This record gives sequence, structure tokens and C-alpha cells, in this order.
Amino acid sequence: MMGYNIFTDILPVRGYSRGLFYDFGKQKLKFAPNTLLDFFKGNNYVDKNDLPQEYLDFLLREKFVFEISNRLKDCFPKLSNDYDSYSIIRHLLIEIDFETRLEELETTISFIENELYCYHLILIIKEDLSYHKELICNLVKSNTVDNFESIGIKSFVDKSETINEILVKTKKITNFYIVDKKIDIIHKDLDFERQQVYRVPVKSNENYNFVSSELFSINLSMYSESQKHNTYFNRKLYIKSNGEIKSSVESQEMFGYLHEIKKPEELKAIISRSNFQKYWFVHKEICDVCKDCEFRHMCVDNRLPFQREDGTWYHKEECNYNPYICKWRGEEGYLSLKECGVTSNESGFNINHEKIEAINKILWKKDKETESA
Ligand code: SF4
Repeated sequence: MMGYNIFTDILPVRGYSRGLFYDFGKQKLKFAPNTLLDFFKGNNYVDKNDLPQEYLDFLLREKFVFEISNRLKDCFPKLSNDYDSYSIIRHLLIEIDFETRLEELETTISFIENELYCYHLILIIKEDLSYHKELICNLVKSNTVDNFESIGIKSFVDKSETINEILVKTKKITNFYIVDKKIDIIHKDLDFERQQVYRVPVKSNENYNFVSSELFSINLSMYSESQKHNTYFNRKLYIKSNGEIKSSVESQEMFGYLHEIKKPEELKAIISRSNFQKYWFVHKEICDVCKDCEFRHMCVDNRLPFQREDGTWYHKEECNYNPYICKWRGEEGYLSLKECGVTSNESGFNINHEKIEAINKILWKKDKETESA
């Protein structure tokens, strides 16, 4: 008997209303009906006679499967989802203000880079960027940051001339985030060589929900990490300009001051505390709403998760994407969770399946099989 095996780097992810094939080889996404993805539930192989012709045509057209005898089907095991990282802290965020001195900044960064094996750095600047231009350029040009894989700047002031100057002078900066009160959804401005400029929304304070397809990342490392970790909060460290140690910009808890730390072991001990790592393991499969979303293994979500008394997790703020109707905020036909009959709050999680079905019938009249991201 002949059949079809799915390529190892193609991973189907079921959502509430549609499924998604993650194509890691081509770094592409392809939507498909859940009924098609169900053929690959728990296995990589499907007998030829079991697949409806239209599904087979789709899979062959997209080069997601190859023909094979069923005697050989066990020769292609699934990819392992195991995740590990040599970094104790992977993302270091440092707030800069008028008091910050280059030597202090270099000392802090070296300390964390060398002791915690950190490889992503983000500098947060809330004041006028031009005041800190020289400090940033000198830091980035120094060899202190040579080992970082990425260096980002998050600026709360939009000064395009200064941004361009910094980008041109310091080729090592990979991401520039401009916080903008006037926009709702993240927007990519520039992308030249490795340097990317994003415009991200902010609401009343610095903690805003920036979930956007622009920040989706189709890579195996994130997919594996997302199985058991929160891909935004995991292994993050935030140092405020006054030295406060926090686990992220968004979290409320403070864990002492950097200038109180005398030995690397003390900082390691803080990071090892279960309170510091509180959000690291709150992955999307255990968060209401997100667990129904087809993007849950590739999305970066900075909303703080909250735990109910029964142990389940939810978000207080709604995502920019509604997975029950497959619509982004701002898109034609978008409805909020409440408008779709979904409630997720401190008291519990409820889905009005009939209401969603009726809405989807109107929104999606035609087959979504071949629609792309
Ligand atoms: S619903 Fe959850 S998983 Fe889906 S895009 Fe929003 S934050 Fe990501």
C-alpha cells in the first residue's frame, strides 16, 4: 500500500476555526481546514485511499508531502520538540536616562553577558533620543556588545533624523522600536540589511499589547520553546534606570537593586527564584483563547497572564487577533471576543459555539483552504 508522508519540517497546528501548516524550511505559513490537519493527528503518514483528492492536490501543490510505501513510514520520525538554552537570561533590557554613564552601562552589560550568557540586548530610552545619541553610539561601537546576536533600541520619542543617524553610525543595531501613540497596530517602517525599524503602539502607559503578525517568527527554536514556555517572558531580565531588577517591563514585582549585587551568584540566586520565573512557563497551550489560536507557536505576546483560583490562565487585555473568527483588529469583519460570544476573565472561560458558527458562516462564505497569511 502506498501513501503520503508529511515532510519533517512541515508542522500542522490546529486552531479553533482553521488550521495552519508551519513550513520551517521555506519559513512560510499556509492556512488549511482543520479537517485536513486531522489526518496528521499523531502521525506523519496517511494511506493514499484515505485522503480526499482536493486535500491531496493541496498537499502536493504545496510540497508538504511525499509519496511512500507504508512499509517505510516509520523511517521518518517526527522532529523533537525538546527545548534547551545555554542562556540563563536570553534578553536583557536596560533603561537609559540622564544619569546613565557609559562605564556603568558597559559594566552592567558585561556582567550580565558573561555571567548569564545573554545574547539579546534592548536599550530603552524614554527621554529625547538625541540626548543619548552619543552614549548609544559609543556603547555599540565598543567591544562590550560584540557578542550579542541582536541589539535593539526602544525609543519613546520619534526623531527620524536621530534614528537614521544612529542606524547609519552603528551598523550593529538590528531593531529600532518607536513607540507611537497614534497607531493601533505594529507597523514596519524600514528594513535594510539587518536593521529593521518598527512603529509600535502605546496606550496609557508603557505596557501595551503589541501582538502583530509582523512579529511572528517561523522558526523551530521558537516552536519548540513555545511547547512549554512563554516565548515573551522566558529568560528575560529588565534593569530600570534606578537599578531596579525586574523580570520584564510589564511585571510589577521588583527583586532588589543592581548596585546591591556584589557577586554574580547573588544575581543568579534572584533569577532562580520561582517568583522571578513566574511567567516563564505560562505557555500558550494553557492560556484561554490563545490555546485555540493557530498562531500560538509563533507569536510574541507581551500581555501579562493571570491565574484564576482554579489554576487556569487568562489575559485581562484582549489580543489584536480573534482566533474564533480569524480576523485581526482593524480588518473588515473584525469583532471582539465579547461580540462573538467568548468571555475570558477572572470568573472563567466560556465559548458560545453556536454564535461563532453563525458569525463565521457570514464572514467566510467561501472555502478558506487556499488562503495564505
Ligand atoms: S490569540 Fe494568543 S496566540 Fe493568538 S495571536 Fe493573540 S496572543 Fe498570539
